[in-house]
Amino acid sequence: MLIKARGVPIWIQCLEALLRLLPQNHRLVPEIHRNLKNRRKGYNGEKSSDYYASLLDQKEFLILHDLTLFHKKLHFQIDTLILTTRFFLIIEIKSLEGELFFNHMTCQLTVSRHETVTGTDNPLIQALNHCTQLRGWLETHKLKQMPIEHLAIISNSRSVIRCSNYETARHVGTDKSLPLKVMELSKRYKEELFTDKELKKIAKAFKKAHSPQPINIMGFYKLKREELLKYIACPNCGCRPMVRVRGLWHCEKCFAYSKDAHVEVITDHLLVKGNRITNKECRDLLGISSVKLANKLLTGMNLHKEGNTRNRSYSLKLPSHLK
Ligand SMILES: [Zn+2]
Repeated sequence: MLIKARGVPIWIQCLEALLRLLPQNHRLVPEIHRNLKNRRKGYNGEKSSDYYASLLDQKEFLILHDLTLFHKKLHFQIDTLILTTRFFLIIEIKSLEGELFFNHMTCQLTVSRHETVTGTDNPLIQALNHCTQLRGWLETHKLKQMPIEHLAIISNSRSVIRCSNYETARHVGTDKSLPLKVMELSKRYKEELFTDKELKKIAKAFKKAHSPQPINIMGFYKLKREELLKYIACPNCGCRPMVRVRGLWHCEKCFAYSKDAHVEVITDHLLVKGNRITNKECRDLLGISSVKLANKLLTGMNLHKEGNTRNRSYSLKLPSHLK
């Protein structure tokens, strides 16, 4: 049963927003495009694995995708957590290309591609670290300890996977082999430690505890606020600024009109600049002078409001990961 679905990762949302806010010739644009491409590749791999996870018995396996928990002042993000009444399973999903070699002696994963060999983050080690963190989290929340299994899924079907021993190979698979691998690991656990009701309760507790890590994309790219574009870009021709004419946004270049072109630029600024905007910042961003109009536009966006009328700020109603 699917308990928590996977949404578009906040990194992808922030990178897309940042690209819309930077001039096309900005020095960082190619690097941001590369980062976005890699993140989209990873996300597509995760979605593909989610499909195969959905083929598991819906009654027996409770599934949470993209779960971030907070323990001992650290966030840890689990790609997929599967809960059963007998054991829990942490799955790390990687989209890697080439010939992969999992070495249990060195705990290293090496990737051979185009006649070069490089070391990379080993998803098995990541999953094992998450097992330790999850045990700590369960202890802190006074919940019953369960055996926790781990699995690394390589979502790129063109990759070749090699492992140094049989035991390592049991914990590595492709997205298509996910159900098979889960069933194989499942055979090791016979004893029922939870009732179905208890398991559902703990699954809900995990979902509620999901607390994504804050992202500071401006800091990540060492960007200054002055480097970001202001004003509304015309959805038709891309020119800035659109001006307010008779209750609509108007492009003086291509004469297009829009009712809600402000929504995208305000949302982008909230994603990129720390999820907080005041009436004054909004007027400055849109190039308008009316406090009343800025108030109307912000109120109409279904944002989270904070503070009284004079120092009110608005933020996106997302989990606390953008603060
Ligand atoms: Zn236009």
